[in-house]
Amino acid sequence: MHSLQRKLGTIILVLAAYVGSFAQEIDGNKLLRHLEYLSSDTLEGRKPLSKGSIMAQNYLLMELSSLPLVAPLYPDFIQPFSFEDRRSKKMVFDARNIVAFIPGSTSKKVIVVTAHYDHVGIGRPDSSGDSIYNGADDNASGTAALLELAAYFSKNRPQHGMLFAALDAEEMGLQGAKALVNDFPYPLEQIVLNVNMDMLSRSEAKEVFVSGTHYYPEFKSILEKIPLGTGSTLRFGHDIPGTGAEDWTRSSDHGAFFEKKVPHLYFGVEDHVDYHQPSDSFEKIHPEFYKSTVELILKSLLALDHQLLKK
Ligand SMILES: [Zn+2]
Repeated sequence: MHSLQRKLGTIILVLAAYVGSFAQEIDGNKLLRHLEYLSSDTLEGRKPLSKGSIMAQNYLLMELSSLPLVAPLYPDFIQPFSFEDRRSKKMVFDARNIVAFIPGSTSKKVIVVTAHYDHVGIGRPDSSGDSIYNGADDNASGTAALLELAAYFSKNRPQHGMLFAALDAEEMGLQGAKALVNDFPYPLEQIVLNVNMDMLSRSEAKEVFVSGTHYYPEFKSILEKIPLGTGSTLRFGHDIPGTGAEDWTRSSDHGAFFEKKVPHLYFGVEDHVDYHQPSDSFEKIHPEFYKSTVELILKSLLALDHQLLKK
């Protein structure tokens, strides 16, 4: 009897591990490791052109170029660009987007997944004397998600082409996104959707918002059908014109796509006390919420990739 119970127990454990290996679509440990490295003090807040920014670029290049199926659309996966700094009015040269492309299995149309990897660098110290603005939530979280989503789709080929762009100089006025849409490797009409991720890793209410469906209700009907998880709730909103700071339509890189009339969806959490403070650090993120949120974005991308072809 005891031995039978043990055997049954073993069979159930093996089955659970087998099922679990399929349910696990995002590697949560790798996701957290990316976030921890990108937001470490060593990278000094990833200000464009800084030593920390170059280290972040090297990390992104190493991760993306090692994936199967991935093709560069710009030489060595790097799109360099220049822009005028809004504050100093001086030109900034050689800011860099890191861009990788996974060709679609059935469609020439493209889904563009974006996250800015830059942050504001070293600045005024807070009351504890910390002067490194780590930007863990803003936006090492979106950048780490971009890496693991690219890893997923490099092994599970999407039907649409998927372009993964880690963007520079968002904090200086969406400059990387503007450079990308102004020098896009395909006609912009070929883009069916931009999915932008900026701040994904902490929420007391365990809520992530998707903004953009006010303009593009066709996406809402697709996302509404995604089965609910437990760790992160998807909420619609923050896209109603005339609501001031509550309207996030131009609050991050998707704004550059919006200006060019390219449909977008923006995933992000509401602002928190550590927003744009040195205390936006790895220790403050909510790991379980973060992992659930990235799983939710993966489910969203899979649903959109399948459903948009039916139109
Ligand atoms: Zn941001």
